[in-house]
Amino acid sequence: MNARIVERIERLKREKNAIILAHNYERPEVVDIADVTGGSFGLLSAAMETSTDVIVVCSVDFMAEAAAILNPDKRVITPTRDAICPLARQLKKKELIKAKREHPDAHVLLYMNSDTETKALADCVCTAGNALKIAETMDGGSPILFGPDHGLSYYVSKRTAKEIIDIPEHGLCPVHHKITVKDLMKAKEIHPKAKVVAHPECRPEIQNYVDYLGSTSGTIEFCKNAGDAEFLVADEVGLIHMLEKEMPDKTFYPVSDMAFCKAMKKSTLPKIEEALEKDKYEVVVPREIAVAARRPIERMFELA
Ligand code: SF4
Repeated sequence: MNARIVERIERLKREKNAIILAHNYERPEVVDIADVTGGSFGLLSAAMETSTDVIVVCSVDFMAEAAAILNPDKRVITPTRDAICPLARQLKKKELIKAKREHPDAHVLLYMNSDTETKALADCVCTAGNALKIAETMDGGSPILFGPDHGLSYYVSKRTAKEIIDIPEHGLCPVHHKITVKDLMKAKEIHPKAKVVAHPECRPEIQNYVDYLGSTSGTIEFCKNAGDAEFLVADEVGLIHMLEKEMPDKTFYPVSDMAFCKAMKKSTLPKIEEALEKDKYEVVVPREIAVAARRPIERMFELA
């Protein structure tokens, strides 16, 4: 079944002059047919560089919207409309406007995993891979209103000299939050020689026990370059497939099987085939929001 559908997807891709981008957390079969895999920054870079007419984004809502904003002259489609990131929804436009009023001297740095209409009010956006560099480079000694993920803001506040103000106060990725210190201790007991890698969306207390903390692409690079053969992965479980694919000679254990992102598993091969065949679902961002959100996304590319 998979071989036939993969063949049809390949044919449609050629006919439509399309490229498929897939996040590292997507289903293994989706990752395997993608032209480009990566974290948010890598996928958006690929979306800006491609010369294809159609870009199929297998990821969550805000990523498809960012790709569309950066490519107003291309057709950007997403195989599903249900891939909604619950973290991004935690910062509301109203709350951001209020915080900006309360901290008029602060700069606003939003994680890519935020709603597009809140990005439109930011000075800059960042990904897990470039959050430190961007926070350091943002103008002067002004405080930074940072949201919506507290794990990432904790990571930035511990590694930069910047004053970080969380917005909202307790934003979290419900998937990474499922990984607990207890899970990690148990896994370390079972695999004492394994190095621990984690994503900054993990709880702050997890971040204190790791050998490497960073984006999904950073984790892949770290594991490739490390001389070690075993790794405990405190990240969304989908990343294990990417790690195994890139490093078949190394062993990767998820710290918790509970860290499963449903939103990142909404794209399936039949949905990708249908998306290519019927040109759906086209990602359309209202012009006013798209123009305003494009500025902070482009600023990220300038500073990263
Ligand atoms: S892993 Fe967390 S932040 Fe990433 S898409 Fe899923 S819910 Fe959103």
